[in-house]
Amino acid sequence: MNLPLDPLKHLSVNARAFLKQPMKLMIDNQFVDACEGKVFPTYDPATSQLIANVSEAGIADVEVAVASANRALVGPWAKMLPNEREAIIRRLADLIEKHADDLAQIESLDSGKPAAQIRAVDIELSIGALRYNAGWPTKLHGQTIPVSAPEMHVYTRREPLGVIAAIVPWNFPLCQACFKLAPALAAGCTVVLKPAEQTPLSALFLANLAIEAGLPPGVLNVLPGFGKVAGQALVEHPGVAKIAFTGSEAVGKHIVRTAASDLKHVSMELGGKNPNVIFADADLDKAAASAAMAIFFYSGQVCAAGSRLMVERKVYERVLEIVMAETAKLKVGHGLSPDTFLGPLISADQFSRVSGFVERAKAQGIECVMGGNKAGGALSDGHFLEPTILLNASDNQEVVADEIFGPVLVVQTFDSIDELTTRANNTGFGLSAGVWTRDVGKAHKVAAALQAGTVWINTYGNFDCAAPWGGYKQSGYGRDNGAEGIEKFLQTKTVWTNCN
Ligand code: ADP
Repeated sequence: MNLPLDPLKHLSVNARAFLKQPMKLMIDNQFVDACEGKVFPTYDPATSQLIANVSEAGIADVEVAVASANRALVGPWAKMLPNEREAIIRRLADLIEKHADDLAQIESLDSGKPAAQIRAVDIELSIGALRYNAGWPTKLHGQTIPVSAPEMHVYTRREPLGVIAAIVPWNFPLCQACFKLAPALAAGCTVVLKPAEQTPLSALFLANLAIEAGLPPGVLNVLPGFGKVAGQALVEHPGVAKIAFTGSEAVGKHIVRTAASDLKHVSMELGGKNPNVIFADADLDKAAASAAMAIFFYSGQVCAAGSRLMVERKVYERVLEIVMAETAKLKVGHGLSPDTFLGPLISADQFSRVSGFVERAKAQGIECVMGGNKAGGALSDGHFLEPTILLNASDNQEVVADEIFGPVLVVQTFDSIDELTTRANNTGFGLSAGVWTRDVGKAHKVAAALQAGTVWINTYGNFDCAAPWGGYKQSGYGRDNGAEGIEKFLQTKTVWTNCN
């Protein structure tokens, strides 16, 4: 366990300079105080120390930001040539790359996640999303339609959907923002971004870079604030065309219900309880080592976490032994310490929620073979939970059925493919799954049978901005990334011309 004595000393000059500035809302390319003058604190979850007070957007700020985004929709942004839009999106990607270390450190301090992992994963995916989508503006062509009417020339145009409210969670703050911002900009939309209240800082750093990249005023507005106030006001606002949301199932469903009143478009990337399946004929060393990473990466605070490990009974003991040995190697610590693998949970609330699952599991007789306790010593002021492994839980118990969103792995056994697929699919979730086997036929059969938006075969947790990502069932609808990712920011206009 380790903790830098003074986390701020680990920050770059740029990151420190950024944190000294007042943290304001960004509307119309201006940094402004909230109309009501309110601020809210953001804390380092590893130490519980205050990092900054941040302007808190209220209903009036949402009004101003949405008006700005609607003006921008018909301003210079709308008149820009596709290759000019491409150039700006590419410049934003280049600026993120230039400030990769600064951003990774700021995000680490705010979220608790290891800076090295943020640099390698979140920042790369953010840059990747922008560069991938930068290629789209020049390729968004319509069609000519051979209608069965004389002398008619009919064609379609692909037009931007309008103002997008991007509402993002605290576990991948920058990356989730870019997954929504990049296709929205490529489609010609404008955006009001509301970062999660726990992690507002990287979005404000991004706002600076967006201005530097040359986005015209109003094309991106950033409103730090609370879900129930700024988030809710965005969802209710008639000037917003679409809500692009990633977050909890409960809030997602609430947003869908609210957005239905004026038929706003919605895309939802919600939770997951993802089965990671190891067959007896798999490369067990590789599969089991990967299984530990699949759950403990970012302390399990990942919707795609491989939180339900299902192992063919005859190799259960062997797999468990490797998973435990791999887990024992993982360092818990401050995200700014270079050898940290698991940072803290995001907040005291999240810590109580996750440790509540573990305590109830123990009370129900579920065996906890590893972890389960709050980390003490130098880490006792933070929200650290030791990596935890639970055994012998049945499918209907909450640790198997519910998304825990913490460093808690549940390991179960199965005996046949049919039993496995029936049990793995017997859940409301359907985000992702892993399958480990050397039998190619079995791998594809199980991949087809699993009800999940993504299935990884002999690997886990891979992402690419060209590969669609999203859920089946109550894990959501709509896809981020890939060609499908930009579709949801466009609408089709059909034009009829009488050539007679
Ligand atoms: P998590 O459980 O990961 O914190 P939430 O679904 O609570 O996920 O939050 C995800 C995002 O949704 C955050 O930006 C949060 O502020 C926002 N949010 C929460 N409640 C609402 C709401 N009623 N309307 C709009 N956004 C909301």
